Amino acid sequence: MGDEHGEPVVDLQLDRAHSARIYDYMLGGKTNFLADRTAAGSVLAVFPAALVAARINREFTHRSTRDLARAGLRQFLDIGTGIPTPPNLHEIAQGVAPDARVVYTDNDPIVLAHAAALLRSTPQGRTAYLQADVTDPGAIVTAPQVLATLDLSRPVALSLNALMHFVPDGDRNRAHEVVEELKAALPSGSALAMSHATADFSPEAMARISDIYAAAGTTVTYRTKAEFARFFDGWELWQPGITLPHQWRPDDPGDATHVTDAEAACYAAVARKP
Ligand code: SAH
Repeated sequence: MGDEHGEPVVDLQLDRAHSARIYDYMLGGKTNFLADRTAAGSVLAVFPAALVAARINREFTHRSTRDLARAGLRQFLDIGTGIPTPPNLHEIAQGVAPDARVVYTDNDPIVLAHAAALLRSTPQGRTAYLQADVTDPGAIVTAPQVLATLDLSRPVALSLNALMHFVPDGDRNRAHEVVEELKAALPSGSALAMSHATADFSPEAMARISDIYAAAGTTVTYRTKAEFARFFDGWELWQPGITLPHQWRPDDPGDATHVTDAEAACYAAVARKP
């Protein structure tokens, strides 16, 4: 389907709450509508710390990307990018290494509609956007946008931040299978940065949040610390290992103690492929 100019018509489903727009609201963004704000309000009623959890998750992306670039990574594949929120991943990576190359991927057409902000690369680097679903990893690692931007025979920093809790297990542990397929497509020296919601600390509030998302048509799957750890199998965890987003290499030691585990409600870690 196209409009009169032959452009594809994107149905932004403004009447339905979307995870990307709920998250945008939690981060204080403006790309959200009544249905998203209503769902966000319901989440905040049962879990006021959602605002803090979203912020510290985003800050984990900033610090992990910065440290990956400082460690020499120059290629980034970010899946489940979300609505652009400055600073975006390429701004952090290119702030350290102006020649860094970044491919962004999300399955929500709303993110595609705002992708222009993700494509303002430095002249030395490059950025690209791919609309794809993480549950089809083969399509991602063979997509022309990926192959034209990244050299998959050289190390890639893969980020899956606040994404995999939107991928259910299915019959065959599909979420772990998907991550293994992505890991297998990358060479030695590559890295995986990941954050993921957990119900380990406040099970009741998290159960009510998953009901709110389910009503909007989105399945949330919380994972325990052991289930989260399994995503990194075979790779070497960077210090401090599996932790909470705000406790992953905080810039200021105070940042690690101002938020409780129950407020964070997420695990985070970075690992390197041997
Ligand atoms: N990574 C960003 C945004 C997280 S919000 C951050 O941590 O700040 C989660 C994003 O994952 C949303 O934009 C949502 O559209 C996307 N998403 C959810 N399921 C997905 C899937 N199966 N494939 C690709 N993206 C998905």
